[in-house]
Amino acid sequence: MTDIEKVVIIGSGPAGWTSAIYTARANLNPVCYIGVPKQNPAPVLPGGQLMLTTEVENYPGFPEGITGPEMMALFQKQAERFGTRVIGKDITACDFSSRPYTLTASDGSTAKAHAVIIATGATANWLGFENELRLAQTGGGVSACAVCDGALPMFRDQPLAVVGGGDSAMEEASYLTKFASMVYIIHRRDELRASKAMQARILDAPNAKVLWNKIPTDVIGDEKIESVRLKDTKTGEESDLPVKGLFMAIGHTPATQFLDGTDIELDDKRYIKLNDRSSNTNIEGVFAAGDVADPDYRQAISASGMGCQAGLDAERWLAAQGIE
Ligand code: NAP
Repeated sequence: MTDIEKVVIIGSGPAGWTSAIYTARANLNPVCYIGVPKQNPAPVLPGGQLMLTTEVENYPGFPEGITGPEMMALFQKQAERFGTRVIGKDITACDFSSRPYTLTASDGSTAKAHAVIIATGATANWLGFENELRLAQTGGGVSACAVCDGALPMFRDQPLAVVGGGDSAMEEASYLTKFASMVYIIHRRDELRASKAMQARILDAPNAKVLWNKIPTDVIGDEKIESVRLKDTKTGEESDLPVKGLFMAIGHTPATQFLDGTDIELDDKRYIKLNDRSSNTNIEGVFAAGDVADPDYRQAISASGMGCQAGLDAERWLAAQGIE
């Protein structure tokens, strides 16, 4: 590609596709790099985290729910309908030192762009057991998002478990106490990392119990999870905890590695920092949207909203540069 693109979008989750819809409808003829499938350790697919989500019930407009992959196919179709060009490659390096910016893809090819929207997302961290990842992909009761999946009928009035001791684990466990008969919080230490206020939600709940000093060593179950095998970190003793759902809350990793070597400002967890409630990064003409810049909400609908902002911000910035 030798021409200079008006806008290149990196990423193909709800944020990427929404910014594609907005910039395409603004006649900016966007290019969207959707990435290539990989294993890390769970599959990372074009379409992002929703490709690993069975049922989406909380995105307005789908009263009967929709599967994550179906939803992403619809987003892509809508973006393509307005002329978005789709490239099945990863961007592996960026040069934001001079304009137009240069983006290098996995096969060594390059693209030049006036504006760039980064929407590469963040992947949930997993423990890495084969059966954990398999059951997560097949709707077998293993998930990395209680707010997304916890209200499904299969989890109602059942014993469930959350792994982790941070704010996310408390939030997810607290959410699950609304549906579950019992929520176990499996934590590897004897002290929670979460803030006191978040801890209180769990420690005071009648149907929540922290299992201290425990690490999962395997996930048991064929079609559906049956139990999680635990090891006590102090005594080494092993036990099986019967549960119908297991929710990982052991942190997320934002996909920002390809920004190494650029001056893009990241926070201490490597999420992109945004300025002034907008999608502006610290580099002019480079915008970010979705989970890659959002450690807090991480929902399809919030990522879409940020994608809309990035599309509009890019359009306004390009217009101010005389590029329309
Ligand atoms: P986090 O603070 O990094 O906590 C991750 C938790 O998972 C820790 O308790 C950690 O244990 C545990 N863990 C990590 N790897 C593990 C492994 N391999 N096996 C077992 N346990 C493991 O992540 P987070 O809870 O997702 O929070 C991320 C950020 O978002 C934080 O800044 C948090 O305050 C913020 N947040 C805020 C809210 C809110 O205020 N409403 C809600 C959610 C998140 P150790 O404690 O032993 O390290």
